[in-house]
Amino acid sequence: MPVRDAEAFILRTFPLKESDKIACFLTREFGKYRGVCRGARRTKGGYGAALEPLTHVRIAFFERENRELTTVDRCEVVTSMMNAASADYATSLGLSVIAEVADKLLPDHEVNERVFRLLLVVLERVREGAPIWLPLTYYLFWMVRLAGFLPDLLTCAACGRSLDSGIVNDPPLDLRPVFFHPREEGLRCSDCAYAGMSQLSSLARRLALAMLRTPLNAIPVEGWDSKETAQDLRRCLLQRLEAHLEFRLQSRALLEEL
Ligand SMILES: [Zn+2]
Repeated sequence: MPVRDAEAFILRTFPLKESDKIACFLTREFGKYRGVCRGARRTKGGYGAALEPLTHVRIAFFERENRELTTVDRCEVVTSMMNAASADYATSLGLSVIAEVADKLLPDHEVNERVFRLLLVVLERVREGAPIWLPLTYYLFWMVRLAGFLPDLLTCAACGRSLDSGIVNDPPLDLRPVFFHPREEGLRCSDCAYAGMSQLSSLARRLALAMLRTPLNAIPVEGWDSKETAQDLRRCLLQRLEAHLEFRLQSRALLEEL
């Protein structure tokens, strides 16, 4: 079997036997793979910090016939997230959410250049020291959008009217609060909302609309240092992800307890 050489992000690892690990990694060239890293649980196994979650690596691996697992031959750090991850608990949790969403959402062996580039810019912004809430929200927004289940941000899913009827500013600055629910694919206006729906604030929808047209590195960090910023937007996006995946993300519960 030929060795494949790729640029990748480590998404997670788990132990295998006494000295090996299995790494799940997203390559730019071939999509997502799982591979056995021999000796990776030993201190002198040759991997160092290369298998830490979200490390950007050069990886060489080969597929084995009739086996789902590949064998990792080499894995070298290009850019490490370890300093950023150890900066504070919120950042480390945010990074766990980023890795888990990519791991659970992306199908195996399917190339996705847009997601790979999204990870590159999001992780760069984290390393530059932006409060985690900005890159995390931007990432969730684009993962939901690229996966094709972002709700229509301007139209009520129940009555079909504009969520901001009567507001004519373009871009609209004074949006109305709208409503979402885990069972509902779309957003609802206040006339169509029912008990038990959560509110998506005017600010949240404005930030979401800005993320559609503004690259992450052009969004100012001001106002993003609190976890309350866009918390409703993240909750709405995570609900869409979980509804699509049909299970609850482990890292999300920790994020909510923060
Ligand atoms: Zn409506």
